[in-house]
Amino acid sequence: MPADWLKDVKHDYDVIVIGSGLAGLTAANRLATCGYSVLLLEHHYNFGGMATWFKRRGNHIFDISLHGFPIGMVKTCRKYWSADIADSIVQIKGIRFDNPQFSFTTTFDRTDFTDKLVTYFKIPPATVEAFFQFARSMNFYDDQAMTTRDLFQKYFPGRHDLWRLLMEPIAYANGSTLDDPAITFGIVFSNFMNKGVYTFQGGTDKLIMKMKATLKAHGVDLRHHALVEKVLIEKERVAGVVCNGRTIRAKAVLSNANLTATIHSLVGDEYFGSDFIREARAVRLNSSSCQVYMGIRKGETIPNIGDLFFTSSHPVFDSEALNAMDVTSRTYSLYYPDTRPGSDRYAIVCSTNANYRDWAALNEDAYRREKERLIEGVVATLEKYLPGVHGKIDHLEASTPRTFEHYTRHVNGASFGTKFEGLKVSQNLPKQISGLFHAGSVGIIMSGWLGAINYGVIVANEMDKHLRQATGCMVQSPAMATHE
Ligand SMILES: Cc1cc2nc3c(=O)[nH]c(=O)nc-3n(C[C@H](O)[C@H](O)[C@H](O)COP(=O)(O)OP(=O)(O)OC[C@H]3O[C@@H](n4cnc5c(N)ncnc54)[C@H](O)[C@@H]3O)c2cc1C
Repeated sequence: MPADWLKDVKHDYDVIVIGSGLAGLTAANRLATCGYSVLLLEHHYNFGGMATWFKRRGNHIFDISLHGFPIGMVKTCRKYWSADIADSIVQIKGIRFDNPQFSFTTTFDRTDFTDKLVTYFKIPPATVEAFFQFARSMNFYDDQAMTTRDLFQKYFPGRHDLWRLLMEPIAYANGSTLDDPAITFGIVFSNFMNKGVYTFQGGTDKLIMKMKATLKAHGVDLRHHALVEKVLIEKERVAGVVCNGRTIRAKAVLSNANLTATIHSLVGDEYFGSDFIREARAVRLNSSSCQVYMGIRKGETIPNIGDLFFTSSHPVFDSEALNAMDVTSRTYSLYYPDTRPGSDRYAIVCSTNANYRDWAALNEDAYRREKERLIEGVVATLEKYLPGVHGKIDHLEASTPRTFEHYTRHVNGASFGTKFEGLKVSQNLPKQISGLFHAGSVGIIMSGWLGAINYGVIVANEMDKHLRQATGCMVQSPAMATHE
């Protein structure tokens, strides 16, 4: 008999959350805290969405998206999760760059960055200060005609070396390009510049276990292996979902699934106004990713060469080249034993941005060959910085945009949701169908761990208003897309 993953599920809930990404988990938590009955349905066997991990024989454990986030995570986690979670957030200090234009290590905070801009790149201090101030002042309600390219041209005309320093880490963090609205750069960049780059000590497994325990304590009904096939609409209102073939009713539904999949597949275009569908069809997806997971054999050690290492042999910053199959721009995340205190193990994860179409087009043989080529390139490059590392690796594995699509159901394996225009469409969903909400990576700024969690809180607040619970515990929102 196949397992019944929906055993004892109720016929109806106040709220159903589709997907256990950080936005879905956070919204579920906030709404349960307000006293609503909440059912969370996740199709994967694990929770966390992109914020996940996996284990392999030999006691290897690999984190997918635990590379770095801004200090704002501490405040957000303390306020909307727990002090316990917030207290595990620690700074990583070794952010290293090596490419044909520059090579150095930075703590990636304002003081050290200013120093690099002034002493290494010879930019006048007043220009640096003016740039920081401008980036910091940008907010969601500004004119969005200025692109990141315009912004750089204004402050650092022709300085393509500096453009690369400013842009490359952000492109890895949210898939943005020089032609995206400058606000998508400004907000994320100044969030990092606040106090540097942070990680969750204990690993993604510890974080998600803590979140699950909190959700259970608040009475959320958590289900995995639970694929939502359809969102039910009756008389222009949301009525529930069909999950694993079963109808479950709800007063409100929050989709944490990919925005375009939510509109076009889970609901269906026929339930929306034609203008809205036109706007939704124009929403561009963000790029995807490849990763190579390298497990160091038990008993072996590697020296500390930094925590986050951006390396490239490409002459300049180039968004096309960054996503290409023959990419040389890679980010290595090095996980030393202190990532999981008490452990004596090392792991390295290399991430590159990628185009879904390049990988989707391959037949199975070509796909396998390309994965091998990806792994070989990643290990050979690492060998230059860590001679002998190849002999210490006893687990090697790669993921591609196809892997991300399979596990998260993001259309085209989009790592960071949608481009900027997706935010408006996501926010307008409840105006089209009463009781239907979306929270998750959209608009570049609402992606990443911090963006996804904050968006989960913002939408939980909207849902709380919608549900008009008599006891009405209003969730306090973080400011919309502003600096944390
Ligand atoms: C390689 C990589 C590295 C990254 N590195 C960083 C980093 O260092 N720092 C950072 O801040 N961010 C990073 N990110 C981005 C960050 O992980 C994401 O932006 C964030 O975790 C997304 O959260 P989300 O709430 O949008 O949901 P997602 O993580 O996208 O999760 C959505 C969930 O919905 C589920 N789902 C979808 N459809 C259905 C359905 N029909 N039924 C049931 N369940 C469904 C999926 O299975 C998934 O669990 C990285 C992402 C990638 C891919």
